[in-house]
Amino acid sequence: MSATTEPTALISLRERLAELSDLGSIGSLLFWDQNTMMPPAAAPARAEQAATLERIVHGRLTDPGLADLLDALEPWVADLDPESAEARLLAVTRRDVEKAVRVPADLAAEITRASALGQQAWLEARASADFTRFRDAFARQVDLRHRYVACFAPFEHPYDVLLDVFEPGLTVAELRPLLERLREGLVPLVRAAADPPDTPRHRLLDGPFEVEDQRRAVSLVLEAVGFDPDGWRLDPAPHPFAQSLAQGDIRITTRYDRHDLGSALYAGLHEFGHGLYEAQIDPAFKRTPLGEPVSLGIHESQSRTWENLVGRGRPFLGWLLGQLRESLPGGFDGVGADDLFRAVNAVRPSLIRVDADETTYNLHVVLRVELEIALMEGRLEVDDLPAAWNAAVERLLGVSVPDDAQGVLQDVHWGAGMIGYFATYTLGNLAAAQLWERVRRDLDIDAQLARGEFAPLRAWLAEHVHRHGRRYTPRELLVRATGGELRIEPFLEYLEGKLVAAGRLRAA
Ligand code: ZN
Repeated sequence: MSATTEPTALISLRERLAELSDLGSIGSLLFWDQNTMMPPAAAPARAEQAATLERIVHGRLTDPGLADLLDALEPWVADLDPESAEARLLAVTRRDVEKAVRVPADLAAEITRASALGQQAWLEARASADFTRFRDAFARQVDLRHRYVACFAPFEHPYDVLLDVFEPGLTVAELRPLLERLREGLVPLVRAAADPPDTPRHRLLDGPFEVEDQRRAVSLVLEAVGFDPDGWRLDPAPHPFAQSLAQGDIRITTRYDRHDLGSALYAGLHEFGHGLYEAQIDPAFKRTPLGEPVSLGIHESQSRTWENLVGRGRPFLGWLLGQLRESLPGGFDGVGADDLFRAVNAVRPSLIRVDADETTYNLHVVLRVELEIALMEGRLEVDDLPAAWNAAVERLLGVSVPDDAQGVLQDVHWGAGMIGYFATYTLGNLAAAQLWERVRRDLDIDAQLARGEFAPLRAWLAEHVHRHGRRYTPRELLVRATGGELRIEPFLEYLEGKLVAAGRLRAA
């Protein structure tokens, strides 16, 4: 059989994969609705709907007919270039099938149901700042993760199995030294650059600005950077996220606080970066596993690029200030771009990860990963988690935790069973800085951003990152785009450069 005509088995495979992709999009729509529109009383029913859908997806992915098609295509694919889209499609599909087959359908559905219910338990526990009300739901999640991990024996480390869900191929052996070296670089940097704890916050973006005015101002900024009203939506959500439902259907969210325009603006830019990644995946990959983002670490590198590398950089802020002066008249009288640059690059050790500045942020991640590994190794019991959390915050950030809501209960991830996820935030920050070095070499990026020209950056990201979808592994993608494996140095150098420019560090 020639490699130029598609064998019938491939046509049948594509039909099955398109249906699986549609089912995945329907699941995404349920998730989007749950987090934007759904009344809270629907949570138990939504948990059942999500579990039912998961059972259907799991059934189709583990259907022996699908594996038979892959087997039938083996001789054909052997003649293809291993980097061709067809060869990669088969490899990625086989990987998905082999992982799904290992997990019994009941366990897969149970994990999905527990995720929806665990989020509800977390919400209630957080509202009362009481970990004991979350304890049983979390213990259930840890137990389910142990059962999931057991499906993949033998493995080098149990946490490797969980990391692989979010960052394919990542291992503890690789992650632990990376985070240790990052921690060693960051702790003294925070000490040297941080404001003393009682310094008043910079108030430049605190308004007050009416929510409707903020919504209009943020929309204008997002449309300038690349939000397309014909194919995107922007809605409010208490915990902002992005969801791609299909080609031409990108949903992003942000949150509004009358006294914090920065929150709406930077969450909006962050989620825009996620949305743009999915919007720019090669249309030829649509409704196949290649048409999906390759990993959460790479995904986060894209959100951080727009939120931080672009959004908190001096060139962009000069342009932004002009925009804000027009859309929020009177709100920025007497404010200069350098003032804004210093205000959005303050360094202050704090309790809440999502509000943390770029310098302290990754220490929040380091502490979560340390605790998760200890839980999975059995060195830490669920009941001891709040105390271990509080001690780690004190050790890494030098602040003391007043209650569980501002401590161990602050993030939804553990309620949803997402153990192994947090590391991808730091991988994203590191990868964004490493990609940015390359952007700076290839584009006249500072001048472009200062003029409000975003098309060249969007095109660069499409070419080097977005369009590939899952065609390359996260590691391959980064090596192709930057010439090397993930390193901490580009991030630390970027951070030091910015802290010097903001007058927080003396040049070395
Ligand atoms: Zn993100």
